[in-house]
Amino acid sequence: MRTGLTPESKDKRRRKIVATQILKPTTENIVKCANTLKAGGLVAFPTETVYALGAVATDAAAVEKVYAVKSRPHDKPLIVAVSNVSEIDGVAVNIPDKARTLMKKFMPGALTLLLDRADCIPDIVTAGARTVAVRIPDNAIALKLLEIVGKPIVVPSANTSDKPSPTLADHVLTDLDGKIDYILDGGASEIGIESTIIDTRVGPPLILRGGGISADRITAEIGEVEFKREKPIMSSAYSPNAEVLFSAYYDGMAANICAKYDALTARGNKTVIICLASNISAYGNRNVFIAGSSYEDYAHNLFALLRRADAEHYDTVIAEGVRSEGIGASIINRLVRASGGLII
Ligand code: AMP
Ligand code: MG
Repeated sequence: MRTGLTPESKDKRRRKIVATQILKPTTENIVKCANTLKAGGLVAFPTETVYALGAVATDAAAVEKVYAVKSRPHDKPLIVAVSNVSEIDGVAVNIPDKARTLMKKFMPGALTLLLDRADCIPDIVTAGARTVAVRIPDNAIALKLLEIVGKPIVVPSANTSDKPSPTLADHVLTDLDGKIDYILDGGASEIGIESTIIDTRVGPPLILRGGGISADRITAEIGEVEFKREKPIMSSAYSPNAEVLFSAYYDGMAANICAKYDALTARGNKTVIICLASNISAYGNRNVFIAGSSYEDYAHNLFALLRRADAEHYDTVIAEGVRSEGIGASIINRLVRASGGLII
């Protein structure tokens, strides 16, 4: 089979990565990572949503490795990142006016646009779809890396598929050590949950996945939007080894959470409650992880706390519910999925 690769570059692609290095985001290291990407390697880097696992999007062999190291099913397409709005015209065609409006307002930022795909994007990126999902990360390290590479980069979360998304370099190392070349360490991801994905090619525009930018903020720019209905049986995602239970939000939710906690503990189940600081007194001396004092904090800390539950060998996590407002809707989406629908 003709691959277009020289024997030397084939060797490079086959080379086994023995240890993954975490690098400080100095200019020198960002250039090193850019060169690795250009040579077909894999680099994880920080974005404002979660850590991304990058490969050059036009390099089908590199993208194939992304699916392999994440154990990601091939029918789940990858989001593509670029460093500025003009580059979106290089990866997409027939861009609607509403998409342009959203680009001006939210890019760089936690918004992904679903657009008609340009020919340079290979099938493996989009799982064969004629569309491409594209965003511009709002993170200086990510933008610098994208600029130096000068090509679009796929940016799925840098975790094993179905595990909580990584919001720290250490989370990436836990899942992908020895499987990727480098991790650029930019500290904690600011937002902590993934981007909002919207299709503006249809009327009304359709939010395919809630995320860092709330529906209200989008509506304020382009008018009415609809939410894609989730399938009743959802595949597991964002799941730690611990069982996750999720409470709906209502007055008196804490009493119900305490009752569940006590029943689990009586059975010898090591359990922890994820709650907002304002509710902590409702849980007495039970184990709690404080998610912060706002819904933004909850989103920022959620995945890290799910991973902490595993690190501290909890059997069960009970997560407090939130109101479906602002980023709360995206927290609920992630918790419903992490719990596999186990709502108490
Ligand atoms: P993740 O990498 O887990 O943040 O997931 C990215 C999500 O983006 C996928 O699960 C899809 O729902 C969506 N997506 C990415 N690219 C496309 C595409 N070309 N067409 C439709 N949906 C897409
Ligand atoms: Mg992911």
